[in-house]
Amino acid sequence: MPQTKFLLDESEIPTHWYNVVADMPNPPTPPLGPNGQPIGPEALTAIFPMSLIEQEVSGERWIAIPEPVREALRLYRPSPLVRAHRLEAALGTPAKIYFKNESVSPAGSHKVNTAIPQAYYNKLAGIKRLATETGAGQWGSSIALAGQMFGLEVRIFMVKVSYDQKPFRRSMMQTWGGQVFASPSMETQTGRNILAKDPDNQGSLGIAISEAVEEAASRADTNYSLGSVLNHVILHQTIIGLEAKKQFAKAGDYPDMVFAPCGGGSNFGGVAFPFFADKAAGKNVRLVAVEPTSCPTLTKGTYAYDFGDTAGFTPLMKMYTLGHDFMPPGIHAGGLRYHGDSPLVSQLYNEGLIEAVAVPQLATFEAGVLFARSEGIIPAPESNHAIRACIDEALRCKASGEKKTLFFNLSGHGHFDMASYDRYFSGKLEDYSYPEEAIRASLANLPKVG
Ligand SMILES: *Cc1c(COP(=O)(O)O)cnc(C)c1O
Repeated sequence: MPQTKFLLDESEIPTHWYNVVADMPNPPTPPLGPNGQPIGPEALTAIFPMSLIEQEVSGERWIAIPEPVREALRLYRPSPLVRAHRLEAALGTPAKIYFKNESVSPAGSHKVNTAIPQAYYNKLAGIKRLATETGAGQWGSSIALAGQMFGLEVRIFMVKVSYDQKPFRRSMMQTWGGQVFASPSMETQTGRNILAKDPDNQGSLGIAISEAVEEAASRADTNYSLGSVLNHVILHQTIIGLEAKKQFAKAGDYPDMVFAPCGGGSNFGGVAFPFFADKAAGKNVRLVAVEPTSCPTLTKGTYAYDFGDTAGFTPLMKMYTLGHDFMPPGIHAGGLRYHGDSPLVSQLYNEGLIEAVAVPQLATFEAGVLFARSEGIIPAPESNHAIRACIDEALRCKASGEKKTLFFNLSGHGHFDMASYDRYFSGKLEDYSYPEEAIRASLANLPKVG
């Protein structure tokens, strides 16, 4: 019988994270302050611990994973690498398909991989509380769990419309001891100002970020925590790709193509960057970020300096962006509705070293359902994007007879997204056309830099 799962022993959890900056042909672009000049590390100390700021700007190839972090990761890592024999058979493809199963984390997605080290480093720096935002709740539940593990209070500003629509994600955060506020809230000046003018405001990720940053910046015992986009977040996620490389070695195989859903870029960078190290050394491997056609940051955005949040509180980062006031259509892959992208992912894309494709919503659910019916796991709507792109390549292989090895990251399970699957089955899910006008209007408001 051909093997299905490729498992590692706990002792094989990587001892170091991989920093792609060491293998990039050009140095990363610096973040800029309000005056248009590069900001130094000291500008970030009000909201991040120095250890994470050092990782944010590091050029070292390998960064040691602290032993207490490896110990906490052992609760669910190493995650399995799975050969999708049944999906291959259902497609009738000569291609081999593998996936890394990040849905095995307690919160159900890859986001716990960075929540744990972020909580650890903040605790070590004497911080008592973390403030953060969450949209659909994947990040909020991951950081609530990690805060609980290291004895930190976690305060989560959850976009009001999700707070009302996703009560069970909220209960998950509360189960792990997180305090959840519908954003805009009465907890911050930002929230109070908005509610004074508009008591029924439904909130947005931009407002929730502003509330969390305000709280972190105004209290010495509180720091801010972010679930994607930043260099140190992607660094922590490289544990996915590093494990996968060991597992491929055990399988006696190596991917021709790596696919991952791409919102802020952390799970894509996490799975793909360790393979980029091989690519930089001359190996032939294609790395593909997959995004929604309705929020096509890499494939249709502009490579420019922009704010990370809607309100314009964050430093300017050079990235592919649809404009910081772009409001993507209400697709069900909440984790992919971000106007920008990781600066590292953006730079490598701009230099033609990685690829990106955009896929429409209905086709992603079709792919997710086929995956669930052949491999068992019900994927998160975000993960369905990678599955779609991987299946499309497998079908091209079927047509051409090529026996490629394809690999995708199953970033999470969809157990809290069944309302979206319901809409798909009842024919209520729609494809949004590419919001060309809204993107053009929003790009007209890019900050003027240099
Ligand atoms: C948040 C999330 C994503 C997208 O986020 P990235 O920052 O691009 O990794 C993908 N899948 C799941 C399940 C998520 O929760």
